[in-house]
Amino acid sequence: MIIDAHTHIHEHADDRLGRPATTDDLLRGLDAAGIDMAVVIPLPGVASNDYVRRQCDRHPDRLAPLYTPEFDDPAHTLAKLRHYAEHHFLHGVKIHPRLQGVTVNDPLVRDVVGFMAERGRPVLFDNFPHGRDLDNPALLPLAYHRLAKEFPTATLVLAHAGGHKVLDAFMVAKANPNVLLDTSFTLDYYRGASVEADLAFVVRRMHAGRVLYGSDFPSCDLGGYLEHTRRRMDELSAEQQGAFYGEAAARLYRLGRESCSPKMSPTSYAVTPTVTADTATTR
Ligand SMILES: [Zn+2]
Repeated sequence: MIIDAHTHIHEHADDRLGRPATTDDLLRGLDAAGIDMAVVIPLPGVASNDYVRRQCDRHPDRLAPLYTPEFDDPAHTLAKLRHYAEHHFLHGVKIHPRLQGVTVNDPLVRDVVGFMAERGRPVLFDNFPHGRDLDNPALLPLAYHRLAKEFPTATLVLAHAGGHKVLDAFMVAKANPNVLLDTSFTLDYYRGASVEADLAFVVRRMHAGRVLYGSDFPSCDLGGYLEHTRRRMDELSAEQQGAFYGEAAARLYRLGRESCSPKMSPTSYAVTPTVTADTATTR
């Protein structure tokens, strides 16, 4: 089973700029690339939580929505998240610190992390240092080391594996069994740079289950990114491949009918033995 653990859809035609970015475009792309499922992530100003959830509800076998906390309404951020969790299946939340103007140091962000930790659900953070706040240390991979230590029962996923800081993201994941990485976008953005080789090294060195395949569609082409990734990640064991291209995402975000069963207790999502800190190989 292949799962793209990081995709977006565009709610408004004006934003699509002629790019294939609708739900149907996503589904067509999944079919063409032989990808079974996609995790679809809301993005403020691009696609709302409600829109993404409704689109995914139409295709529950193929699409699973994350939820993005609404930090522009801080008095109600937690209440809205709680309301969502009470009425819909909460696969996980995505926080985009650069876009949403928050950092891991904000009390409200930490409250969200605590809320998710209590429920045994993951928090995905954009982690691609870029643009205006490039020099803000609270947005760099190392900022998540302290957060992971302070919330040991929270599961944190660093999207884009830290961008050009990929080795920092790797060291944070090695030091903290509750930190995972996704490999979306970075491989295309840094095509031809040493970052590509570093990311391949990281995926190879991480224990199976600690790193998730994703594309960041529509920024990256679904089939093209998968092909590019397969080419660069050609030294993975069969176990690593199975986990990286689907099993880890299925377990983490509880995808598929069985894993969404209400019978599954919150504790049945746990960091499995393969999802441990890589202390044995750390020197
Ligand atoms: Zn994204």
